[in-house]
Amino acid sequence: MRNDCAACRLSECRTQMVEPDGATDSILAVGEAPGAEEDERGVGFIGAAGRTLRREIEAITGLPREGWSRANIVRCRPPNNRKPFADEVRSCTDKLKEAIERQNPRVILAVGESAGRVLCGERLRAGAYLPQVARMIADAQQRGSQALPLYEGRRVIPMPHTSGLAWNRTYKTPEGNRKIAELGRDAIRLAAQCFPVSGRPWTAHGRIAKAAEQAAAAWFVRACEGANEGAFLHYKPGYIGFWISRKHPGEHWVRDIPISNGMNEQEIASFIFDRARSLPIVSEVDLC
Ligand code: SF4
Repeated sequence: MRNDCAACRLSECRTQMVEPDGATDSILAVGEAPGAEEDERGVGFIGAAGRTLRREIEAITGLPREGWSRANIVRCRPPNNRKPFADEVRSCTDKLKEAIERQNPRVILAVGESAGRVLCGERLRAGAYLPQVARMIADAQQRGSQALPLYEGRRVIPMPHTSGLAWNRTYKTPEGNRKIAELGRDAIRLAAQCFPVSGRPWTAHGRIAKAAEQAAAAWFVRACEGANEGAFLHYKPGYIGFWISRKHPGEHWVRDIPISNGMNEQEIASFIFDRARSLPIVSEVDLC
């Protein structure tokens, strides 16, 4: 348990400081402040809002929790989950900058209005937050990542808060009401498209793993009719890999088939089914 900072009044009511954690050279999600569960256990993004963010990042990018990193604009929980005051944010700014330096993120996702306004600075004016975020994301989708604001030399993508209350609501656009969750997913997709995290194979988890597993099961049924040795289905961001080992020595090969990061799990499942149908029959399937 770490409790060695008393630079602002939040030190008087916290249980413990919540330190940034997660993978370097990946996506860094920066939220507002620790909540009750985080304060109690000293781990960031484990409450309901954190779990939603984790589920969405995993579904869109394929990165499990350990594949991206987390920090907050203040490390101590404000009483009754109130928003941190400006002087508390200022007191904690050096710590956030240190975390960014250490995590060396490819892109920062600013989760929720408090983090968005701190990290996007003057690029977000006073007034409604979500329409401005939507415009910024649409602009970056058209013009590329250089349209995004910089914080400590890193591109920042603002997004809505992932608390159940915020995520399941709608916001007004000139074309009518739009789901806040869709805007959040657009932000994560933009992060995956503009700043793909590559070079490490990722194990499939969650909904994508389920989709892949179902496809592998169907493939296995066909495999039982054959006499070959093995096949391995592997998912990493942007790719489905089929590792196939046939019964004849030396007949091993890998097929990495690009998929779109924007695909949802149903699309990935049907994609795998289609590809599996065209592959040779195998006798064993493992999801690695
Ligand atoms: S919020 Fe930041 S500055 Fe304030 S006491 Fe906690 S660690 Fe220190």
